Amino acid sequence: MYVFRGVFPVICPSGVRIHATLMMVACDIPAARKTSGFTSHNSTWACYKCNRHFPRLENGVNIDFRGFDFSRWVLRDGLHRLGYLDLVRGTIIDPMHNLFLGTPKRLMDRWIKDEDIQDGDFVAMQKTAETMIVPGEYTSLNSKIGKQFSYMKADEWKSWVLVYSPVLLKDVLAKDRFENWINFVDACRLLIKPTITFNEVNTAHQFLQTFCTRCDELYNAEILTCNMHLHLHLRDTIRDFGPVYGYWLFGFERFNGLLKNLKTNRKIGFEETFMKKFIEDVHKDDLVNSFLQSTHQTSAFSLLTKLTYSFTPATIPSIRQRTFRIQSFVEASEDPNVLVKGNEPLPPSAFPLSLKSATTMIALEKREEIPMCTVT
Ligand SMILES: [Zn+2]
Repeated sequence: MYVFRGVFPVICPSGVRIHATLMMVACDIPAARKTSGFTSHNSTWACYKCNRHFPRLENGVNIDFRGFDFSRWVLRDGLHRLGYLDLVRGTIIDPMHNLFLGTPKRLMDRWIKDEDIQDGDFVAMQKTAETMIVPGEYTSLNSKIGKQFSYMKADEWKSWVLVYSPVLLKDVLAKDRFENWINFVDACRLLIKPTITFNEVNTAHQFLQTFCTRCDELYNAEILTCNMHLHLHLRDTIRDFGPVYGYWLFGFERFNGLLKNLKTNRKIGFEETFMKKFIEDVHKDDLVNSFLQSTHQTSAFSLLTKLTYSFTPATIPSIRQRTFRIQSFVEASEDPNVLVKGNEPLPPSAFPLSLKSATTMIALEKREEIPMCTVT
């Protein structure tokens, strides 16, 4: 795709003119490197955010990621000279992969290997977990703890980190290892907030820096990963793009799950099959939605949801068309009883949006002078 100065005009067959702007590249670490043309995560120049060089460990294979003194890292600048996009800053550290797919499993594997947690502990933790009441927006782990965390998804690790682990690990881990784990938990608690201040981002950064440094002291260099180094670059992603709900990849991965469940012939042409089935499903969703606007019969929900992959009865009422009123939108953002995550879809009546003139990303040194943008 050719994008220059933020504009990529295309005229659709229907006559509608579409403009596209590349805001960010958001992927897991290996895909981000390939998409943006950076070195691999197991290179000795593994970081595309700073120019830190990592030696290899004594085994000559693994990389030595020690050294978490962030103040001594020199951020990269000018790798690319694009019209409007700074690719180093625009290729983000995805908070979902960075916080919940990687470090929690890395630590869990190590605790099992070091026999900090033994078979009997998993059984005891499972029993305690079954007595816990998990907040509505978190996934319950059911029997996953007793099964030693096999096949865990990101939202399950999220529940483990934020809800279960502070309670269940307290009497299992040694005091110093538990206290260090809580540094990571505290950082995650702050970073997943729907609205976050610069001070909170800085505090979370301090927690992560302490966590990474102590990991080096409590374990050894082999436990450290590129992901842990990138924990300390997460602050800049949030400073640039705001609270994580606006761009972390939970929604994207959910669509991957939908595509994965579509049946293909497992040979050729699966892209076309994906697209056909996806479009079919969108049309079915449109049919369901248009029907729902003319009925209040909730008894029909179970039948209607069998037609589509993408909606559940809980989400169907929220996508009905409503008239957009700016005053209620502003008031809702200030109501502490309304949990606004920032990734809610705008109602169709909010469009077309009025367009402002193009701007470029704010220079690093000016960034602290403006209030943190919250995606509300
Ligand atoms: Zn770096």
